[in-house]
Parts: sequence; structure tokens; C-alpha cells
Amino acid sequence: MIQPLSIVIPVFNEAPSLRQLHAEIAEVLAQHDYTAEIIFVDDGSRDESWTVIRELAAQDRRVRAVRFRRNFGKAAALSAGFAMARNARVLTMDADLQDDPREMPNFLAKVEEGFDVVSGWKKIRHDPWHKVLPSRVFNWMVSSMTGVRLHDHNCGMKCYRREVLGEVILYGELHRFVPVLAAARGFTVGELVIHHRPRRFGKSKYGFSRFVKGFLDLLTVRFLTGFGQRPQHVLGTVGLISFGLGALILTYLAALWTCSRTLPGWTPITLHDRPLVIYATGLLLLGGQLMSMGFLAELFLAYHVRPERTYSVAERIDAQPPA
Ligand code: UDP
Ligand code: MG
Repeated sequence: MIQPLSIVIPVFNEAPSLRQLHAEIAEVLAQHDYTAEIIFVDDGSRDESWTVIRELAAQDRRVRAVRFRRNFGKAAALSAGFAMARNARVLTMDADLQDDPREMPNFLAKVEEGFDVVSGWKKIRHDPWHKVLPSRVFNWMVSSMTGVRLHDHNCGMKCYRREVLGEVILYGELHRFVPVLAAARGFTVGELVIHHRPRRFGKSKYGFSRFVKGFLDLLTVRFLTGFGQRPQHVLGTVGLISFGLGALILTYLAALWTCSRTLPGWTPITLHDRPLVIYATGLLLLGGQLMSMGFLAELFLAYHVRPERTYSVAERIDAQPPA
């Protein structure tokens, strides 16, 4: 049985596309007789987007919408949409008509196959080369650093089982990493080749800076998914190695100095002209700093950790009536 669907669409200055987008979605829904709601999240648009959305909502009872007071970014817009979504399957797509609503049935079928997250892959992409090329590099880096191998992590068209969205917390610009964050909690992630179209109206909201930010976010996500529950394991390991190495070198130098001054036949040496002393002291300080940072992180975690966030339940058996 096909589950009812919530379609979540983040909108930032996309007024000229919205009517056609709604019409295309409505056509697919009618063709396949889907039960669905269409959720527009106006992320502080400064054009006519909200007026158009209100118009669409007046014509079509399946349209629900929320308008942000200012632009908060795509991740925030998606979060708001997810919080509103009431159906078992949630599909996101961009508002600029680049994603083709006719792909919706394929996403739903793939989720029915058993995947918790299905991410689109714009295999033939209709964007300028200066977007496509850095994006290839970005996808390769994310795939190899996180182990979640997708060709197109940043694709706007994705479909989820609703359980996923209750567990993955989106903020900042982490919308690019939903599959990675979901996989880190044990959800299965699949990929679907989709038809991509060139942008007809308006312009892209992202420039080159997205790749710098994307890289920093990748480091954050890698740290959060790998060591978020045990920061001292990474900071402390590097700290210990650095501290140990520094201590070893200083001990060696101290022994050398002592021997040179006590043992017969040795010429007394001085240490102030040995650069090694500075390197060793540097290592010692760095090691101490990294470890104390690790302890601070652990302290923060110990008092703020939400136990239910430290695991993800797939199924329960519980025949006992509640006490
Ligand atoms: N978007 C948004 N808030 C923002 C930036 C973008 O809601 O701050 C929406 C935008 O309206 C579109 C989707 O996110 O529906 C993808 O944006 P865009 O098409 O500019 O990205 P690109 O296709 O160039 O990657
Ligand atoms: Mg676009």
C-alpha cells in the first residue's frame, strides 16, 4: 500500500516558479491517486512568493504553509517543514522547478523497497560548470570521509520515512548532510537517478562560498558522527601522543645533561642552544591544551547529553501492559 505523503518545499524568492510547480505536483498526485499534503516554507522571501503561496492554499486544501520572519536558510526551512509534516513519507524538493515532480513515484517505490532515506542523484546536471565541478569534488570528499557513498549528497530531492526526521537534527547548513546524519544513526540510505532541469526563473541562492562552508561542515559532521559522544577519544589521543613525545624528549635531554655533568670522561653540555628543547616544550603545551579541551568537551557532554539521542531504536517488543 502506498503511504500518504508530505511534500516539503523550501522557498526563498521563487515566486515565478510556484504556480507551475504546484500544477506539476498536483498532476502527479492525481495520476497516481496519492494522498498528500504540500508544505511550502517561505524562508523570508522578499518577492511575491508568500502572496502566491496564499493563493495556492486558497485553491487547494492540501497546501499548508509557514512564513519565516526573515531568511534563516534552507536547513531551518526544511526543519520547519519536517515539524509540520504529518504523513508517513516525507519528500523534499526545491522550489525552482529544477527537480521534476514526476520523479515522486520512483522515490516512494524505492522507500517501499526498504530504504529509510532515498537521495536523488542529478546524474545529468543542468547547472554551470563552476558549480558542477566543485560539487563533484565535494561529493567525493563527503563519501570517502563519512563512508556514506552517494554521488550527490546536496541534491534537494530526497524522500524519508518519517521516523528518520524525528531523530536527525538540522541546523546551520547541515541540510547537505541529512543522509550522513541518518546513516550515523543506523538508517539505510539509497540513491535514485533523477531527471534534472535548468533553472528557468530567478537565480541560484548559493555561490562559491558554499564549498568552503560545506568543507567546514563536513569536518563538523565527521567529528559529530564519529566522536560526538566521546570527544576526549580524539582530542585526548592526539594530546597524549604530543604530550608523551614532548616528555620523552625532555627526559632524554635531562638525562644527557645530568650524565655530562656527573660521569667521568663526559664534557659538560648546555641545553639553551638546543632547538629540540623548544620543540619538546611546544609538544608538551599542545598536548596539555588538547587534553584539557577534551575534558571541557566531556564536561559539557556529561551535563547536557540527552540519553535518548545516544541510540536509535529499530523495533520494540513489549507485551506488558503499562504499569
Ligand atoms: N532556499 C531556501 N533558503 C535559502 C536558500 C535557498 O529556502 O536561504 C531554497 C530555494 O528557494 C530552493 C532551494 O532552497 O527552493 C535550493 O536553492 P537553489 O536552487 O538556489 O540551490 P541550487 O539549485 O543552486 O543548488
Ligand atoms: Mg536550484
